[in-house]
Amino acid sequence: MTKRPSVLIVDDRPENLITLEALLEPFNLDIVRATSGAEALAHTLDYDFALVLLDVQMPGMDGYEVAELLRGNKKTKSIPIIFVTARSKAETQIFRGYESGAVDYMFKPLEPIVFNGKVRVFIELYEQKEALRRKTIEFDQKLAELEELQQQLEETNEQLLMLSTTDGLTGLYNKRRFEEIFSEEWERASRTETSLSLIMLDIDHFKLYNDSFGHHLGDDCLRSVAKALRQMELRELDRIARVGGEEFAIVLPDTDPQGAELVAERVRKVISELRIPHNEASGREIVTASFGVSSILPTRHLSSRYLAEAADEALYESKSKNRNCVTFKECMTCWEYAQD
Ligand code: GH3
Ligand code: MG
Ligand code: MG
Repeated sequence: MTKRPSVLIVDDRPENLITLEALLEPFNLDIVRATSGAEALAHTLDYDFALVLLDVQMPGMDGYEVAELLRGNKKTKSIPIIFVTARSKAETQIFRGYESGAVDYMFKPLEPIVFNGKVRVFIELYEQKEALRRKTIEFDQKLAELEELQQQLEETNEQLLMLSTTDGLTGLYNKRRFEEIFSEEWERASRTETSLSLIMLDIDHFKLYNDSFGHHLGDDCLRSVAKALRQMELRELDRIARVGGEEFAIVLPDTDPQGAELVAERVRKVISELRIPHNEASGREIVTASFGVSSILPTRHLSSRYLAEAADEALYESKSKNRNCVTFKECMTCWEYAQD
């Protein structure tokens, strides 16, 4: 709800205040009275006045002094003032230099039609200013709400992106993201003419593990393995993903076959050093993994799937060699693809 505009009327004579109040009657105003300059100034602390009707001749502080003080204060400096004076027009010229529009004069005895006209103009100006101020506040609030919404949207998008690229169980990249990373790295390696390596690893006898200890502990085991992989100090560009139930992939950009085999061997050790007990029916006491490694110097006209297939075949070989080992397999050459 908009409140009524407040108007301050200042005159040392109560009967003049009564006259002013009667003249202001047609306006819907909140009228505040003061019988001295000091009292008028005190009221300005509590109110936000639309207009001050100020008697010029008052004992103590006169109307001009009050106006000077109002002008000197940030809160009150733009409150319009109408001087109500019995003096001649010539004397009022001393206020000529003051903010135009903010100061006006009326001469006693007050002429109701002139009075009404002047007061109306100031009240209308005040109401327009207030409406603008409210709109500005509303606008600022809407803007703040909008900014907050945008921020929420960005956070949601980030979460969605995270969810769509990470594996819920282990927090590693998921298969979808792995495929993107793999093809990005393939592109990059083709451009920079550097080798790209891939390690595929698969936990040994994991079906038996689940069957022996239950799916819950199976999940715990996968999480422990993933955590150990994450904690390994690999190169910044090396990326690990969970690409199947108990299968993981590690992409190693700018890494040659020897380097990749070395990393795979380190990972193999890290997993076995977790010493997660396995069912001895698996032929071993602890959980282990088998590894397939392959490397290539990619070119754009080759498909990245050849590297993935070579690493898979190497992994299969490790499984057939009693598991818990690393096998490297040469990736087919361009010449061999040409024979396809
Ligand atoms: P191998 O040594 O030849 O790899 O044998 P394996 O038993 O590990 O391989 P197989 O592919 O036969 O079985 C994989 C098992 O992994 C099947 C399922 O019990 C288990 N598994 C796959 N995904 C999950 C999972 O998200 N959580 C749990 N707890 N187990 C899973
Ligand atoms: Mg498997
Ligand atoms: Mg397995």
